Amino acid sequence: MRAIVTLPVAAFFMLSPAGAQTIYPLDRADILAAARFDFKVEFPGLQKPEATPVTINGEPYAKVLGRAAQFVEREDGKDQSALILRDVVLKPGTYKVQAGAASVTWNVYSTGPRKAKNVILFIGDGLSPAHRIGARLLSKGIAEGKSLGKLAIDDMPHMALVATAGSDSIITDSANSASAYATGHKSAVNAMGVYADRTANPFDDPKVETIGELVKRHNMALGIVTNTESQDATPAAMATHTRRRSTYDQIVEQYFDVKPDVLMGGGLANFLPGKADGSKRKDETDYLAKFKDAGYRYVSTATELSAAGADAATGKLLGLFALGNMDGVLDRKFLKGGTVKKFPDQPDLTDQVKTSLNLLSKNPNGFFLMVESGLIDKYALDFDRAVYDTIMLDNAVRQTKEWAKARGDDTLILVVSDHNHPNSLIGTINDDMKTTPNVPMRERVGTYEKAGFPNYPAPDAEGYPNRVDVSRRIAIFSAAAPDYYETFRPKLDNPNLPAVEGKEKGTYVANEQYKDVPGAMLRFGNLPAMMNASVHSGEDVILTAIGPGSERVHGSMDNTEVFRVMVEALGLGNSE
Ligand SMILES: [Zn+2]
Repeated sequence: MRAIVTLPVAAFFMLSPAGAQTIYPLDRADILAAARFDFKVEFPGLQKPEATPVTINGEPYAKVLGRAAQFVEREDGKDQSALILRDVVLKPGTYKVQAGAASVTWNVYSTGPRKAKNVILFIGDGLSPAHRIGARLLSKGIAEGKSLGKLAIDDMPHMALVATAGSDSIITDSANSASAYATGHKSAVNAMGVYADRTANPFDDPKVETIGELVKRHNMALGIVTNTESQDATPAAMATHTRRRSTYDQIVEQYFDVKPDVLMGGGLANFLPGKADGSKRKDETDYLAKFKDAGYRYVSTATELSAAGADAATGKLLGLFALGNMDGVLDRKFLKGGTVKKFPDQPDLTDQVKTSLNLLSKNPNGFFLMVESGLIDKYALDFDRAVYDTIMLDNAVRQTKEWAKARGDDTLILVVSDHNHPNSLIGTINDDMKTTPNVPMRERVGTYEKAGFPNYPAPDAEGYPNRVDVSRRIAIFSAAAPDYYETFRPKLDNPNLPAVEGKEKGTYVANEQYKDVPGAMLRFGNLPAMMNASVHSGEDVILTAIGPGSERVHGSMDNTEVFRVMVEALGLGNSE
Protein backbone atom coordinates (compact mmCIF):
# COMPACT_ATOMS: atom_id res chain seq x y z
CA MET A 1 0.00 0.00 0.00
CA ARG A 2 2.70 2.42 1.02
CA ALA A 3 4.68 2.01 -2.21
CA ILE A 4 1.59 2.77 -4.26
CA VAL A 5 1.15 6.04 -2.41
CA THR A 6 4.82 6.98 -2.52
CA LEU A 7 5.57 6.43 -6.20
CA PRO A 8 3.47 9.18 -7.77
CA VAL A 9 4.62 11.66 -5.14
CA ALA A 10 8.28 10.91 -5.91
CA ALA A 11 7.60 11.11 -9.62
CA PHE A 12 6.03 14.52 -9.16
CA PHE A 13 9.10 15.94 -7.48
CA MET A 14 11.44 14.29 -10.01
CA LEU A 15 9.90 16.52 -12.65
CA SER A 16 11.32 19.66 -11.07
CA PRO A 17 14.87 18.98 -9.84
CA ALA A 18 15.50 22.72 -9.35
CA GLY A 19 12.49 22.97 -7.04
CA ALA A 20 14.61 24.21 -4.16
CA GLN A 21 15.51 27.28 -6.19
CA THR A 22 13.29 30.07 -4.95
CA ILE A 23 12.68 33.51 -6.39
CA TYR A 24 11.22 36.34 -4.29
CA PRO A 25 8.70 37.94 -4.79
CA LEU A 26 6.90 34.64 -5.38
CA ASP A 27 5.11 33.64 -8.56
CA ARG A 28 1.93 35.59 -9.42
CA ALA A 29 2.85 38.45 -7.07
CA ASP A 30 0.85 41.60 -7.78
CA ILE A 31 3.18 44.53 -7.14
CA LEU A 32 2.26 48.20 -6.87
CA ALA A 33 4.32 50.24 -9.34
CA ALA A 34 6.72 52.47 -7.39
CA ALA A 35 6.42 50.39 -4.21
CA ARG A 36 9.80 49.12 -3.04
CA PHE A 37 10.63 45.44 -2.71
CA ASP A 38 13.69 43.24 -2.30
CA PHE A 39 14.53 40.81 -5.08
CA LYS A 40 16.12 37.53 -4.02
CA VAL A 41 17.10 34.30 -5.73
CA GLU A 42 18.02 31.39 -3.47
CA PHE A 43 20.08 28.70 -5.21
CA PRO A 44 19.82 25.18 -3.86
CA GLY A 45 23.60 24.66 -3.63
CA LEU A 46 26.92 26.44 -4.00
CA GLN A 47 27.08 28.56 -7.14
CA LYS A 48 29.48 30.77 -8.99
CA PRO A 49 27.94 34.17 -9.76
CA GLU A 50 27.82 33.49 -13.51
CA ALA A 51 26.76 29.83 -13.24
CA THR A 52 23.02 30.42 -13.42
CA PRO A 53 21.96 33.33 -15.58
CA VAL A 54 19.08 35.27 -14.09
CA THR A 55 16.94 37.06 -16.63
CA ILE A 56 13.83 39.22 -16.60
CA ASN A 57 11.77 39.17 -19.77
CA GLY A 58 14.75 37.55 -21.49
CA GLU A 59 17.24 40.30 -20.55
CA PRO A 60 19.92 40.22 -17.86
CA TYR A 61 18.16 41.07 -14.59
CA ALA A 62 20.61 43.88 -13.76
CA LYS A 63 19.64 45.70 -16.93
CA VAL A 64 15.93 45.58 -16.06
CA LEU A 65 16.36 46.34 -12.34
CA GLY A 66 18.98 49.01 -12.96
CA ARG A 67 21.83 47.51 -10.94
CA ALA A 68 23.49 44.24 -9.97
CA ALA A 69 22.50 42.26 -6.89
CA GLN A 70 24.78 41.31 -4.06
CA PHE A 71 25.99 37.73 -4.54
CA VAL A 72 26.21 35.73 -1.32
CA GLU A 73 28.32 32.65 -1.96
CA ARG A 74 27.69 30.82 1.33
CA GLU A 75 24.46 31.92 2.92
CA ASP A 76 24.21 31.31 6.68
CA GLY A 77 27.59 29.55 6.43
CA LYS A 78 25.98 26.73 4.45
CA ASP A 79 26.59 25.36 0.97
CA GLN A 80 23.93 27.59 -0.52
CA SER A 81 24.35 30.71 -2.62
CA ALA A 82 21.96 33.59 -3.16
CA LEU A 83 21.45 36.83 -5.03
CA ILE A 84 19.83 39.73 -3.23
CA LEU A 85 18.98 43.22 -4.43
CA ARG A 86 17.19 45.57 -2.04
CA ASP A 87 14.73 48.39 -2.72
CA VAL A 88 13.80 47.55 -6.29
CA VAL A 89 11.09 49.61 -8.02
CA LEU A 90 9.40 48.63 -11.28
CA LYS A 91 7.21 50.30 -13.87
CA PRO A 92 3.82 48.73 -14.64
CA GLY A 93 3.91 45.59 -16.78
CA THR A 94 4.35 41.84 -16.76
CA TYR A 95 7.76 40.54 -15.69
CA LYS A 96 8.89 36.96 -16.22
CA VAL A 97 11.90 36.19 -14.05
CA GLN A 98 13.98 33.15 -15.00
CA ALA A 99 16.75 31.68 -12.83
CA GLY A 100 17.94 28.39 -14.24
CA ALA A 101 14.93 26.11 -14.43
CA ALA A 102 12.87 28.20 -12.01
CA SER A 103 10.68 31.04 -13.12
CA VAL A 104 8.08 33.39 -11.68
CA THR A 105 5.85 36.00 -13.23
CA TRP A 106 5.03 39.32 -11.56
CA ASN A 107 2.21 41.65 -12.40
CA VAL A 108 3.25 45.23 -11.66
CA TYR A 109 0.23 47.53 -11.66
CA SER A 110 -0.32 51.25 -11.62
CA THR A 111 -3.27 52.99 -10.05
CA GLY A 112 -5.45 55.65 -11.56
CA PRO A 113 -5.71 59.11 -10.03
CA ARG A 114 -6.46 59.49 -6.35
CA LYS A 115 -10.09 59.05 -5.30
CA ALA A 116 -9.93 59.37 -1.51
CA LYS A 117 -8.16 61.85 0.71
CA ASN A 118 -7.96 59.36 3.59
CA VAL A 119 -8.17 55.61 4.09
CA ILE A 120 -9.21 54.02 7.38
CA LEU A 121 -8.84 50.27 7.79
CA PHE A 122 -10.70 48.72 10.72
CA ILE A 123 -9.61 45.21 11.65
CA GLY A 124 -11.62 43.05 14.01
CA ASP A 125 -8.91 40.57 14.93
CA GLY A 126 -10.30 37.06 14.65
CA LEU A 127 -13.78 38.51 14.14
CA SER A 128 -16.04 35.61 13.11
CA PRO A 129 -19.61 35.76 11.82
CA ALA A 130 -20.73 34.40 15.23
CA HIS A 131 -19.20 37.43 17.00
CA ARG A 132 -20.88 39.69 14.48
CA ILE A 133 -24.35 38.20 14.92
CA GLY A 134 -23.84 38.16 18.70
CA ALA A 135 -23.03 41.88 18.61
CA ARG A 136 -26.12 42.51 16.49
CA LEU A 137 -28.41 40.58 18.87
CA LEU A 138 -27.08 42.24 22.02
CA SER A 139 -26.73 45.81 20.79
CA LYS A 140 -29.75 46.04 18.47
CA GLY A 141 -32.22 43.45 19.73
CA ILE A 142 -34.49 41.29 17.62
CA ALA A 143 -38.28 40.77 17.38
CA GLU A 144 -40.19 38.19 15.35
CA GLY A 145 -36.95 37.25 13.68
CA LYS A 146 -36.12 40.75 12.40
CA SER A 147 -33.23 42.70 13.82
CA LEU A 148 -34.31 45.96 15.41
CA GLY A 149 -31.39 47.81 13.91
CA LYS A 150 -28.26 47.47 11.79
CA LEU A 151 -24.68 47.34 12.91
CA ALA A 152 -22.54 50.11 11.42
CA ILE A 153 -20.14 47.41 10.18
CA ASP A 154 -23.01 45.78 8.25
CA ASP A 155 -24.57 49.00 7.03
CA MET A 156 -22.08 49.53 4.21
CA PRO A 157 -22.80 49.66 0.48
CA HIS A 158 -20.05 47.22 -0.51
CA MET A 159 -19.19 43.77 0.79
CA ALA A 160 -16.87 40.92 -0.18
CA LEU A 161 -15.67 37.57 1.09
CA VAL A 162 -11.90 37.61 1.58
CA ALA A 163 -9.68 34.52 1.38
CA THR A 164 -6.93 34.49 4.01
CA ALA A 165 -4.43 31.66 3.32
CA GLY A 166 -0.70 32.43 3.60
CA SER A 167 2.27 31.46 1.42
CA ASP A 168 3.10 28.53 3.70
CA SER A 169 -0.29 27.31 4.95
CA ILE A 170 -4.04 27.36 4.42
CA ILE A 171 -4.30 28.77 7.97
CA THR A 172 -2.99 32.27 8.57
CA ASP A 173 -1.96 34.01 11.75
CA SER A 174 -2.38 37.70 12.51
CA ALA A 175 1.10 38.55 11.21
CA ASN A 176 0.91 37.32 7.65
CA SER A 177 -2.78 38.22 7.33
CA ALA A 178 -2.18 41.84 8.37
CA SER A 179 0.92 41.84 6.17
CA ALA A 180 -1.20 40.89 3.16
CA TYR A 181 -3.44 43.90 3.84
CA ALA A 182 -0.47 46.19 4.47
CA THR A 183 1.76 45.16 1.54
CA GLY A 184 -0.34 43.29 -1.04
CA HIS A 185 2.06 40.34 -0.81
CA LYS A 186 1.48 36.93 0.71
CA SER A 187 3.72 35.89 3.55
CA ALA A 188 4.17 33.06 6.04
CA VAL A 189 2.93 32.50 9.61
CA ASN A 190 4.77 34.82 12.05
CA ALA A 191 6.14 37.04 9.25
CA MET A 192 5.21 40.58 8.26
CA GLY A 193 6.51 42.98 5.66
CA VAL A 194 8.83 40.28 4.30
CA TYR A 195 8.91 37.10 2.29
CA ALA A 196 10.05 34.37 4.67
CA ASP A 197 13.40 33.20 3.31
CA ARG A 198 15.56 30.26 4.41
CA THR A 199 18.09 32.11 6.56
CA ALA A 200 17.90 32.18 10.36
CA ASN A 201 18.14 35.97 10.79
CA PRO A 202 14.58 37.31 11.20
CA PHE A 203 15.55 40.73 9.82
CA ASP A 204 17.37 39.87 6.56
CA ASP A 205 14.38 38.46 4.69
CA PRO A 206 13.35 40.07 1.39
CA LYS A 207 11.23 43.08 2.36
CA VAL A 208 8.14 44.50 0.72
CA GLU A 209 7.06 48.06 1.38
CA THR A 210 4.21 48.58 3.87
CA ILE A 211 1.32 50.97 3.38
CA GLY A 212 2.61 52.84 6.44
CA GLU A 213 5.95 53.52 4.75
CA LEU A 214 4.25 54.32 1.44
CA VAL A 215 1.99 56.99 2.89
CA LYS A 216 4.85 58.53 4.88
CA ARG A 217 6.87 58.68 1.64
CA HIS A 218 3.96 60.58 0.10
CA ASN A 219 3.94 63.06 3.02
CA MET A 220 0.63 61.77 4.29
CA ALA A 221 -0.01 61.09 7.98
CA LEU A 222 0.05 57.59 9.45
CA GLY A 223 -1.98 56.37 12.41
CA ILE A 224 -1.76 52.96 14.06
CA VAL A 225 -4.31 52.30 16.79
CA THR A 226 -5.05 49.11 18.70
CA ASN A 227 -6.14 47.88 22.11
CA THR A 228 -3.61 45.02 22.11
CA GLU A 229 0.09 45.62 22.61
CA SER A 230 0.99 48.27 20.05
CA GLN A 231 3.86 46.09 18.81
CA ASP A 232 1.59 43.05 18.32
CA ALA A 233 1.31 41.54 14.85
CA THR A 234 -1.66 43.42 13.38
CA PRO A 235 -0.52 46.96 14.22
CA ALA A 236 3.16 46.17 13.60
CA ALA A 237 2.47 44.80 10.12
CA MET A 238 1.30 48.27 9.04
CA ALA A 239 4.83 49.64 9.16
CA THR A 240 7.52 47.11 10.12
CA HIS A 241 9.43 44.14 8.75
CA THR A 242 10.30 40.95 10.58
CA ARG A 243 10.21 37.20 10.02
CA ARG A 244 9.31 36.78 13.71
CA ARG A 245 6.38 38.70 15.13
CA SER A 246 7.70 38.08 18.65
CA THR A 247 10.71 40.40 18.09
CA TYR A 248 8.94 43.16 20.02
CA ASP A 249 12.04 45.17 20.94
CA GLN A 250 13.06 45.53 17.30
CA ILE A 251 9.49 46.32 16.24
CA VAL A 252 9.52 49.29 18.63
CA GLU A 253 12.85 50.40 17.08
CA GLN A 254 11.35 50.13 13.60
CA TYR A 255 8.30 52.15 14.70
CA PHE A 256 10.71 54.82 15.85
CA ASP A 257 12.35 54.85 12.40
CA VAL A 258 9.01 55.08 10.56
CA LYS A 259 7.56 57.63 13.03
CA PRO A 260 3.81 57.08 12.77
CA ASP A 261 2.02 60.35 13.53
CA VAL A 262 -0.27 58.53 15.94
CA LEU A 263 0.67 55.28 17.68
CA MET A 264 -1.65 53.95 20.37
CA GLY A 265 -2.36 50.81 22.31
CA GLY A 266 -0.87 48.76 25.12
CA GLY A 267 2.64 47.32 25.15
CA LEU A 268 4.43 49.92 27.27
CA ALA A 269 6.72 47.11 28.55
CA ASN A 270 8.86 47.13 25.39
CA PHE A 271 9.27 50.91 25.36
CA LEU A 272 10.83 51.02 28.83
CA PRO A 273 14.56 50.46 29.43
CA GLY A 274 15.34 46.92 30.61
CA LYS A 275 15.93 47.80 34.25
CA ALA A 276 12.70 49.81 34.65
CA ASP A 277 9.74 48.36 36.54
CA GLY A 278 7.55 46.26 34.27
CA SER A 279 9.96 46.46 31.32
CA LYS A 280 10.36 43.55 28.92
CA ARG A 281 13.14 45.15 26.87
CA LYS A 282 16.39 43.26 26.64
CA ASP A 283 18.42 46.48 26.33
CA GLU A 284 18.53 49.73 28.28
CA THR A 285 17.21 52.01 25.54
CA ASP A 286 14.43 54.25 26.79
CA TYR A 287 12.03 54.50 23.87
CA LEU A 288 9.58 56.67 25.78
CA ALA A 289 12.38 59.25 26.09
CA LYS A 290 13.37 58.80 22.44
CA PHE A 291 9.82 59.33 21.17
CA LYS A 292 9.42 62.38 23.42
CA ASP A 293 12.76 63.79 22.21
CA ALA A 294 11.53 63.29 18.66
CA GLY A 295 8.60 65.60 19.40
CA TYR A 296 5.92 63.15 20.44
CA ARG A 297 3.36 63.98 23.06
CA TYR A 298 3.07 60.93 25.34
CA VAL A 299 -0.20 59.99 27.04
CA SER A 300 -0.84 57.02 29.33
CA THR A 301 -4.47 57.44 30.45
CA ALA A 302 -7.88 58.20 28.95
CA THR A 303 -7.84 61.59 30.69
CA GLU A 304 -4.50 62.56 29.14
CA LEU A 305 -5.67 61.28 25.77
CA SER A 306 -8.76 63.43 25.85
CA ALA A 307 -6.68 66.49 26.78
CA ALA A 308 -4.34 65.78 23.86
CA GLY A 309 -7.32 65.50 21.51
CA ALA A 310 -8.62 68.88 22.60
CA ASP A 311 -5.20 70.53 22.33
CA ALA A 312 -4.83 72.09 18.90
CA ALA A 313 -1.06 72.25 19.27
CA THR A 314 -0.52 68.51 19.59
CA GLY A 315 1.62 67.11 16.80
CA LYS A 316 2.69 63.49 16.93
CA LEU A 317 1.09 61.35 19.62
CA LEU A 318 2.24 58.19 21.42
CA GLY A 319 -0.37 56.61 23.71
CA LEU A 320 0.52 53.55 25.77
CA PHE A 321 -2.19 52.63 28.25
CA ALA A 322 -1.02 49.30 29.71
CA LEU A 323 2.18 47.27 30.04
CA GLY A 324 0.70 44.45 27.98
CA ASN A 325 -2.69 44.26 26.27
CA MET A 326 -5.31 46.81 27.25
CA ASP A 327 -8.55 45.49 28.76
CA GLY A 328 -11.70 44.81 26.81
CA VAL A 329 -14.86 46.83 27.24
CA LEU A 330 -16.78 44.24 29.30
CA ASP A 331 -14.07 44.38 31.97
CA ARG A 332 -13.48 48.12 31.72
CA LYS A 333 -17.11 49.20 31.86
CA PHE A 334 -18.85 46.48 33.85
CA LEU A 335 -16.93 43.57 35.43
CA LYS A 336 -13.64 45.28 36.43
CA GLY A 337 -11.73 42.06 35.76
CA GLY A 338 -8.46 41.62 33.85
CA THR A 339 -5.94 44.37 34.64
CA VAL A 340 -8.56 47.13 35.09
CA LYS A 341 -7.70 47.65 38.77
CA LYS A 342 -4.05 48.20 37.86
CA PHE A 343 -4.81 50.46 34.87
CA PRO A 344 -8.17 52.03 35.83
CA ASP A 345 -8.14 54.93 33.34
CA GLN A 346 -7.80 53.22 29.96
CA PRO A 347 -9.54 54.81 26.98
CA ASP A 348 -12.23 53.12 24.93
CA LEU A 349 -11.40 52.36 21.29
CA THR A 350 -13.87 55.12 20.33
CA ASP A 351 -11.82 57.64 22.38
CA GLN A 352 -8.63 56.49 20.66
CA VAL A 353 -10.26 56.86 17.25
CA LYS A 354 -11.73 60.28 18.03
CA THR A 355 -8.36 61.76 18.98
CA SER A 356 -6.64 60.04 16.04
CA LEU A 357 -9.09 61.53 13.54
CA ASN A 358 -8.61 64.97 15.09
CA LEU A 359 -4.83 64.83 14.83
CA LEU A 360 -4.39 62.98 11.54
CA SER A 361 -6.87 65.15 9.64
CA LYS A 362 -4.60 68.14 10.23
CA ASN A 363 -2.28 66.82 7.52
CA PRO A 364 -3.35 68.56 4.28
CA ASN A 365 -2.11 65.54 2.28
CA GLY A 366 -4.50 63.11 3.95
CA PHE A 367 -3.80 60.06 6.07
CA PHE A 368 -3.94 56.29 6.45
CA LEU A 369 -5.23 54.97 9.77
CA MET A 370 -5.48 51.36 10.91
CA VAL A 371 -7.71 50.70 13.90
CA GLU A 372 -7.75 47.26 15.46
CA SER A 373 -10.24 45.83 17.93
CA GLY A 374 -7.65 43.25 18.74
CA LEU A 375 -8.89 41.38 21.78
CA ILE A 376 -11.71 39.63 19.92
CA ASP A 377 -9.04 37.14 18.83
CA LYS A 378 -7.50 36.85 22.27
CA TYR A 379 -10.89 36.13 23.86
CA ALA A 380 -10.97 32.71 22.21
CA LEU A 381 -13.53 30.67 24.24
CA ASP A 382 -14.66 33.84 26.06
CA PHE A 383 -17.51 34.81 23.80
CA ASP A 384 -19.14 37.42 26.04
CA ARG A 385 -15.97 39.52 26.09
CA ALA A 386 -15.36 38.98 22.37
CA VAL A 387 -18.92 40.05 21.50
CA TYR A 388 -18.63 43.20 23.65
CA ASP A 389 -15.39 44.13 21.87
CA THR A 390 -17.20 43.59 18.55
CA ILE A 391 -19.83 46.10 19.70
CA MET A 392 -16.96 48.46 20.57
CA LEU A 393 -15.55 48.03 17.05
CA ASP A 394 -19.01 48.80 15.69
CA ASN A 395 -19.20 51.99 17.76
CA ALA A 396 -15.81 53.10 16.47
CA VAL A 397 -16.91 52.46 12.89
CA ARG A 398 -20.23 54.30 13.35
CA GLN A 399 -18.46 57.34 14.78
CA THR A 400 -15.98 57.29 11.90
CA LYS A 401 -18.71 57.02 9.27
CA GLU A 402 -20.41 60.07 10.81
CA TRP A 403 -17.08 61.93 10.86
CA ALA A 404 -16.50 61.10 7.17
CA LYS A 405 -20.04 62.09 6.19
CA ALA A 406 -19.65 65.48 7.84
CA ARG A 407 -16.53 66.06 5.72
CA GLY A 408 -18.32 65.31 2.46
CA ASP A 409 -17.30 61.66 2.13
CA ASP A 410 -13.65 62.04 1.15
CA THR A 411 -12.59 58.96 3.14
CA LEU A 412 -12.55 55.27 2.25
CA ILE A 413 -13.54 53.16 5.27
CA LEU A 414 -12.95 49.41 5.26
CA VAL A 415 -13.95 46.94 7.97
CA VAL A 416 -12.53 43.44 7.86
CA SER A 417 -11.42 40.51 9.97
CA ASP A 418 -7.89 39.19 9.49
CA HIS A 419 -8.82 35.50 9.83
CA ASN A 420 -11.74 33.53 11.13
CA HIS A 421 -12.19 31.61 14.35
CA PRO A 422 -14.21 28.38 14.15
CA ASN A 423 -17.08 29.74 16.24
CA SER A 424 -20.75 29.11 15.72
CA LEU A 425 -23.85 30.61 17.24
CA ILE A 426 -26.00 27.53 17.81
CA GLY A 427 -28.83 28.77 20.04
CA THR A 428 -29.25 29.97 23.58
CA ILE A 429 -28.39 28.65 27.01
CA ASN A 430 -31.64 28.74 28.90
CA ASP A 431 -31.44 28.41 32.68
CA ASP A 432 -35.24 28.39 32.88
CA MET A 433 -35.66 25.46 30.52
CA LYS A 434 -35.45 22.82 33.22
CA THR A 435 -36.11 23.69 36.80
CA THR A 436 -34.73 20.53 38.37
CA PRO A 437 -31.42 21.54 39.97
CA ASN A 438 -29.57 18.39 38.94
CA VAL A 439 -30.25 18.58 35.23
CA PRO A 440 -26.89 18.85 33.47
CA MET A 441 -26.23 22.26 31.99
CA ARG A 442 -26.01 20.82 28.48
CA GLU A 443 -29.70 19.93 28.66
CA ARG A 444 -30.33 23.66 28.93
CA VAL A 445 -28.78 24.39 25.57
CA GLY A 446 -31.73 25.47 23.47
CA THR A 447 -31.51 24.62 19.78
CA TYR A 448 -33.92 25.40 16.94
CA GLU A 449 -37.27 26.56 18.35
CA LYS A 450 -36.05 25.92 21.89
CA ALA A 451 -33.38 28.59 21.40
CA GLY A 452 -36.03 31.29 21.08
CA PHE A 453 -34.53 34.73 21.71
CA PRO A 454 -32.05 35.85 24.39
CA ASN A 455 -33.26 38.07 27.24
CA TYR A 456 -30.43 40.57 27.74
CA PRO A 457 -31.53 43.93 29.19
CA ALA A 458 -32.03 46.75 26.70
CA PRO A 459 -28.62 48.10 25.69
CA ASP A 460 -27.29 51.39 27.04
CA ALA A 461 -26.56 54.38 24.80
CA GLU A 462 -23.35 52.70 23.60
CA GLY A 463 -25.11 49.45 22.70
CA TYR A 464 -24.06 47.37 25.70
CA PRO A 465 -26.54 45.44 27.88
CA ASN A 466 -25.43 46.07 31.47
CA ARG A 467 -25.16 42.35 32.25
CA VAL A 468 -24.27 39.15 30.46
CA ASP A 469 -25.34 36.63 33.13
CA VAL A 470 -28.97 36.62 32.04
CA SER A 471 -31.12 33.49 32.19
CA ARG A 472 -31.34 33.07 28.41
CA ARG A 473 -28.01 33.96 26.80
CA ILE A 474 -26.56 33.31 23.38
CA ALA A 475 -24.69 30.03 22.95
CA ILE A 476 -21.52 30.28 20.88
CA PHE A 477 -19.24 27.25 20.75
CA SER A 478 -15.87 26.77 19.09
CA ALA A 479 -15.20 23.80 16.83
CA ALA A 480 -11.56 23.72 17.96
CA ALA A 481 -10.44 23.54 21.57
CA PRO A 482 -7.95 22.08 24.02
CA ASP A 483 -9.33 19.99 26.90
CA TYR A 484 -11.35 22.43 29.00
CA TYR A 485 -14.27 22.67 31.40
CA GLU A 486 -17.38 23.95 29.65
CA THR A 487 -19.37 25.92 32.23
CA PHE A 488 -22.06 27.24 29.87
CA ARG A 489 -21.79 30.49 31.80
CA PRO A 490 -20.08 33.86 31.35
CA LYS A 491 -16.81 34.33 33.25
CA LEU A 492 -17.68 37.20 35.57
CA ASP A 493 -14.39 37.58 37.41
CA ASN A 494 -11.62 37.42 34.80
CA PRO A 495 -11.26 36.47 31.14
CA ASN A 496 -11.57 32.74 30.52
CA LEU A 497 -8.37 30.74 30.86
CA PRO A 498 -9.56 27.41 29.45
CA ALA A 499 -6.27 25.49 29.75
CA VAL A 500 -3.15 25.77 31.88
CA GLU A 501 0.33 24.33 31.53
CA GLY A 502 0.45 20.58 32.14
CA LYS A 503 3.15 18.45 33.80
CA GLU A 504 4.99 18.04 30.53
CA LYS A 505 6.62 21.25 29.32
CA GLY A 506 4.82 22.79 26.37
CA THR A 507 1.58 20.92 26.93
CA TYR A 508 -1.72 22.16 28.30
CA VAL A 509 -4.48 20.60 30.35
CA ALA A 510 -7.99 21.72 31.32
CA ASN A 511 -7.99 24.50 33.92
CA GLU A 512 -9.32 22.93 37.14
CA GLN A 513 -10.43 26.38 38.29
CA TYR A 514 -13.73 25.81 36.47
CA LYS A 515 -14.21 22.19 37.55
CA ASP A 516 -16.60 22.95 40.41
CA VAL A 517 -18.74 25.54 38.64
CA PRO A 518 -22.22 23.97 38.98
CA GLY A 519 -22.95 21.91 35.86
CA ALA A 520 -19.44 22.23 34.37
CA MET A 521 -18.40 19.39 32.07
CA LEU A 522 -14.92 18.32 31.01
CA ARG A 523 -14.72 18.62 27.23
CA PHE A 524 -12.09 16.53 25.51
CA GLY A 525 -10.43 18.81 23.03
CA ASN A 526 -9.65 18.07 19.42
CA LEU A 527 -6.40 20.03 19.29
CA PRO A 528 -2.87 18.83 20.06
CA ALA A 529 -1.83 19.18 23.73
CA MET A 530 0.51 22.05 22.81
CA MET A 531 -2.50 24.32 22.18
CA ASN A 532 -3.96 26.25 25.13
CA ALA A 533 -6.95 27.87 23.43
CA SER A 534 -9.03 27.80 20.29
CA VAL A 535 -7.20 28.32 16.98
CA HIS A 536 -7.70 30.30 13.78
CA SER A 537 -9.70 28.71 10.98
CA GLY A 538 -9.42 28.97 7.23
CA GLU A 539 -12.84 30.21 6.19
CA ASP A 540 -13.15 33.47 4.26
CA VAL A 541 -13.78 36.63 6.26
CA ILE A 542 -16.23 39.47 5.61
CA LEU A 543 -15.05 42.82 4.26
CA THR A 544 -17.43 45.79 4.16
CA ALA A 545 -16.63 49.21 2.73
CA ILE A 546 -17.96 52.70 2.20
CA GLY A 547 -16.55 55.83 0.60
CA PRO A 548 -14.54 56.67 -2.52
CA GLY A 549 -12.93 53.55 -3.95
CA SER A 550 -15.18 51.16 -2.05
CA GLU A 551 -16.85 50.00 -5.26
CA ARG A 552 -13.76 47.82 -5.79
CA VAL A 553 -14.99 45.69 -2.87
CA HIS A 554 -17.30 42.96 -4.13
CA GLY A 555 -17.60 39.23 -4.66
CA SER A 556 -14.72 36.96 -3.77
CA MET A 557 -11.35 38.59 -3.09
CA ASP A 558 -7.91 37.57 -1.92
CA ASN A 559 -6.53 39.30 1.18
CA THR A 560 -3.71 40.81 -0.92
CA GLU A 561 -6.37 42.67 -2.95
CA VAL A 562 -7.41 44.68 0.11
CA PHE A 563 -4.06 46.48 -0.20
CA ARG A 564 -4.81 47.18 -3.85
CA VAL A 565 -8.20 48.69 -2.98
CA MET A 566 -6.50 51.06 -0.52
CA VAL A 567 -3.60 52.15 -2.74
CA GLU A 568 -5.95 52.64 -5.69
CA ALA A 569 -8.15 54.87 -3.54
CA LEU A 570 -5.08 56.90 -2.56
CA GLY A 571 -3.62 56.82 -6.07
CA LEU A 572 -0.27 55.71 -4.67
CA GLY A 573 0.81 54.14 -7.97
CA ASN A 574 -0.60 56.85 -10.19
CA SER A 575 1.28 56.80 -13.50
CA GLU A 576 -0.57 59.78 -14.93
ZN1 LIG B 1 -5.59 37.88 14.21
